[in-house]
Amino acid sequence: MTFDEENSRFDSPVSFLVVDDDSRARQSLSMLLKRKWSDITEAEDGEVAISLIEKRQFKVIILDLNMPKKSGDQVLAFIRDRKIETTVIVISGETSINKVTEAVRLGAYDIFKKPYSFDDLEHAIHNALDKARVEEEKVQIQSRLAHSERLHRYMVDNSPDLIYILNLKGEFSFVNDSVTKLLGYDKSDLLGKHYSQFIADEDRMKAEYLFNERRRASRSSRMVELGLKCNSTDPSKPFDVSVCPIELNSMGIYSVDIKDARKVVTYQGTYGVARDISSRKKAEKLITFQAYHDLLTKLPNRAMLLDRLDLAIKQSVRTKETLIVMFLDLDRFKLINDSFGHVVGDQLLVEVAGRLKQEIRTGDTLARLGGDEFMLLLPQPTTREQAESVAQKLIQSLQQPFFLRSKEVYINVSIGIAVFPDDSSDINTLITNADMAMYDVKSTGKNGYTFYSDKLEHAAAEKISIESGLRNALKNGELEIFYQPQINSLSRQIVGVEALLRWNHPQLGLRAPGYFLEQAEESRIIQQISEWVLHRVASDLFSDPRFLDSEIKVSINLSASDIRQKEFPENLVAFTEKFAIDPRRLEIEITENMFMSDIQACTHKLQVLSNRGISIAIDDFGTGYSSLNYLRELPVHTVKIDYSFVSEIEHSSKGAALVAAIVGMAHGLGIDLVAEGVENNHQAEYLENLGCHIMQGFLFSKPLKVEEFLERVVTQQAAIPNLSKA
Ligand code: C2E
Ligand code: MG
Ligand code: MG
Repeated sequence: MTFDEENSRFDSPVSFLVVDDDSRARQSLSMLLKRKWSDITEAEDGEVAISLIEKRQFKVIILDLNMPKKSGDQVLAFIRDRKIETTVIVISGETSINKVTEAVRLGAYDIFKKPYSFDDLEHAIHNALDKARVEEEKVQIQSRLAHSERLHRYMVDNSPDLIYILNLKGEFSFVNDSVTKLLGYDKSDLLGKHYSQFIADEDRMKAEYLFNERRRASRSSRMVELGLKCNSTDPSKPFDVSVCPIELNSMGIYSVDIKDARKVVTYQGTYGVARDISSRKKAEKLITFQAYHDLLTKLPNRAMLLDRLDLAIKQSVRTKETLIVMFLDLDRFKLINDSFGHVVGDQLLVEVAGRLKQEIRTGDTLARLGGDEFMLLLPQPTTREQAESVAQKLIQSLQQPFFLRSKEVYINVSIGIAVFPDDSSDINTLITNADMAMYDVKSTGKNGYTFYSDKLEHAAAEKISIESGLRNALKNGELEIFYQPQINSLSRQIVGVEALLRWNHPQLGLRAPGYFLEQAEESRIIQQISEWVLHRVASDLFSDPRFLDSEIKVSINLSASDIRQKEFPENLVAFTEKFAIDPRRLEIEITENMFMSDIQACTHKLQVLSNRGISIAIDDFGTGYSSLNYLRELPVHTVKIDYSFVSEIEHSSKGAALVAAIVGMAHGLGIDLVAEGVENNHQAEYLENLGCHIMQGFLFSKPLKVEEFLERVVTQQAAIPNLSKA
């Protein structure tokens, strides 16, 4: 090896310290060494040598034993005690075996007796350097290994995943720190224990091959989902479920030995990584929940109901037993929504769902189909009588008031019932039948239940025929207006008249609005009808001198969809201008419920009319869900006391008091009053005494044909009965 080669293999050039009190021997050795190496230092005794060794590092020390001050042994002892890394070669005149063994014991690498051959010494130096180099490389490798081990352990312990090793018996021989965070166990809880103790019961079979995987490489287990048991006593996870879902990757560990020149591969255990997938599972659960549930009430939705109904029908076909489907619809829910707002409406739906749920058994399915529609499936064999008693319980459960935002709210429900297989064996028809039965309840008074029957089919067909009939009615001139006078009991004069719509049905004869108004509103034909009414009133009354010469005001009923039209006030004003109608002789009647949904827009629209002189009357006053506040905001000229209050006057003191309260309030606010549906003298007198003088009702006149009414206008008082007080 050349000098350069020797040096290039070490970081620094090889440094020598030559220690000998014999200066000639020392110098000649230095000279010889200098032929090969450059860094040579000399020391003339042991003391100088020690002070030099303290200051710097020498790769090789060539040491004499017999020296003044400090002997070679002392130098060796110093090097050993200080754990100084160097190679000491002793050169000495001493040959006693004791001296030699002592020097070796103290750490000398080799010993040469003077005189010696320099070649031998050089050879020993090379050997020593080689050994030191190997030693040094070993240390370096060991430190690199230790570093890499530390790094890997850090990575393993700080991994969010659970990393484990199982031994041959399937017991944990290693788990990383994540086990505490993930499962709430201490490492020591797992080590030495069989893995199966920690697998969720339902996954044990599956885990047998996966958790304890023996296969390697591409055949090992990947992305398998399992449940691991958690330590529920862990205070940091007090509310956690007892099973943690994980995704597992695992593979067999094998050792390879050579035995008799053959490779022997032995299974050693399993290495696995388990990832916590509880957040993903939660998200998945939520998505599935959303697909099959109504998010507001948390009840099953239509999709889930159809699923269950389909299953129940299949089962019933097999067992030849009946099952029941109920269609539930809340009465006047829209009104509550419009009056109190959607937040209260939603809250009501949640509470209704809660009460209904309490009345059903675990196997039954109560679903919300949307809006205020619910559906109930009773899959077990149920008789009609049993179904009836369930329906009654459901109705009763809603009878107590609901308290929403400190408001007391009452709600009723209409229930239609269909029976499988009597009413239909088809899933959709069954639902339609229950729906039809529910509509029948609604149309005949609400808050009740009824079973589907063939007759209902006719009623539904009638609804459809009303809608198409109405379209024809407009074209064929089958609509008519009747006029009902409003009388001032003091002057006994007709002061107003209400225009009331009739349909002269080609087969059924004259029909009142109760027969067709709902369909007209639902199908939006009402807007064309309202327009027709206005034109009809204009031509009936405002072109006839008998009416024009009087001061009678005419009232026209409008519906919600009329008012909702954007241009509604402008169109009405344009209408009065076109027909030269004095706006002061026109009044529109609206009900409280019509403006509850958007009182601001409504106020603005009514103000436009009021500014033009058109009066606004609140029809059916007191029957809606409104706060009286609107009376301050809206330009209201007249309040019409509803027939239901007037008819109570003689029957209950409460009814009479209510009428008195309405009259008092209107007087206080300076609003005109009209009492509707006055049918007898008793009612008329009572109203009279309260100071409510304008009345409308059969006592004075039924709604009249236009000609009849106009004649009445001319002959005035004749038709008006004398009230006892008047
Ligand atoms: P409403 O505006 O409250 O009209 C008063 C209703 O009470 C009329 O029923 C009238 O015939 C009836 N009535 C009058 N006096 C008495 C009485 O002494 N006793 C009893 N029991 N009833 C009496 P009608 O004509 O069947 O109208 C029903 C409802 O239809 C009206 O109630 C009104 O809201 C609506 N309506 C009538 N005509 C129209 C119209 O042209 N357009 C719109 N949108 N709705 C109308
Ligand atoms: Mg009216
Ligand atoms: Mg009314």
